[in-house]
Amino acid sequence: MDRRSALRARRRIFGLAAASLLVAACAEPRAGVLETRFPALRDFPGQRLAEAHPFVLPSGGRVVQFFCRWPSDTPLPVSVPLDATEAERRAIDVALRAWEGAGLGVRFLVLEGGPAPIEIRFEDEALAIGAGGDMGNAVVDCQMAPLSQQTDPGAVREARLVRARLRIARQTAPSWQGKARPLTAAEQTGTLLHELGHALGFQGHARRGDTVMVREVERIPRVGAAVLAGEGFADPTLRALYRLPSGAVVSSTPVEAWRTDLVDRMARLAEGAALDGPFARVGESAARIFWRDPQGAEYGLVVIQIAEAIRRPETTRVVPEPRARRALPRRNDLRPGQSGRE
Ligand SMILES: [Zn+2]
Repeated sequence: MDRRSALRARRRIFGLAAASLLVAACAEPRAGVLETRFPALRDFPGQRLAEAHPFVLPSGGRVVQFFCRWPSDTPLPVSVPLDATEAERRAIDVALRAWEGAGLGVRFLVLEGGPAPIEIRFEDEALAIGAGGDMGNAVVDCQMAPLSQQTDPGAVREARLVRARLRIARQTAPSWQGKARPLTAAEQTGTLLHELGHALGFQGHARRGDTVMVREVERIPRVGAAVLAGEGFADPTLRALYRLPSGAVVSSTPVEAWRTDLVDRMARLAEGAALDGPFARVGESAARIFWRDPQGAEYGLVVIQIAEAIRRPETTRVVPEPRARRALPRRNDLRPGQSGRE
């Protein structure tokens, strides 16, 4: 952080309401807990892994929070869109090379178009996905062994990232006067670096620190410009993530049975029908557990208010998506106020 933004940040901190200060104060113990659990994280000063949204698995009367990443022993195929301009191709190459050089141990294999575990797409307009996130978006899936095989309390078995879909905007969101403009090379490169960080397994955002995974919209193009200028790129947070085994459990909290019941029942149904999965996703406001049938239809359950659920797992709430709700008989619903309603 430069001096001006440090000052600005300090002013912001002093201006904050007491409630937010409480939240900020909670973050440091969480970082400490993580380093106690995984002493290897101490090798990465400045890492902000405690600020990530871990993946969440509510099952069998427990809520397990865990990290998920790609295996780093084989190159990760990345599909580059055929309609990419030369400048966009360059931004992608620069961003991929920057991550390869960041010490995670990952390598990419670039494919021209077509399906691949990591797919990048450009959108002609800004993405309609809420504040700050309109230059890029990433949807990232973690697959794990069937829930009936999850018997190890310290790890989610066979957890590994299997799919990431990245969308990068070609234009900014319209200003209040309705004007949009093309993204600069620095913005596009920074956005690619940031979304690739999500694709590599860091979900949510860091509040501050030496990482491109911050939410600050000014910082992302700054990192993009630096990388385009050939300056080094490092990210202790993602390096820390890749030091941990995929499936590493951050916390495992006992909860009331009804809080995991929908996932448990959907898991039994899915295993009986040999559906693909389970898969987990986690974003800014919600997490998701889902299975996929041979036609590609998804049976999903949503963990709502995810930031709160991560802080206080005992409050975790799961709601079914329509297809899962139809598959699960209502009369068996254990959730308060749900039982017997058809
Ligand atoms: Zn982001």
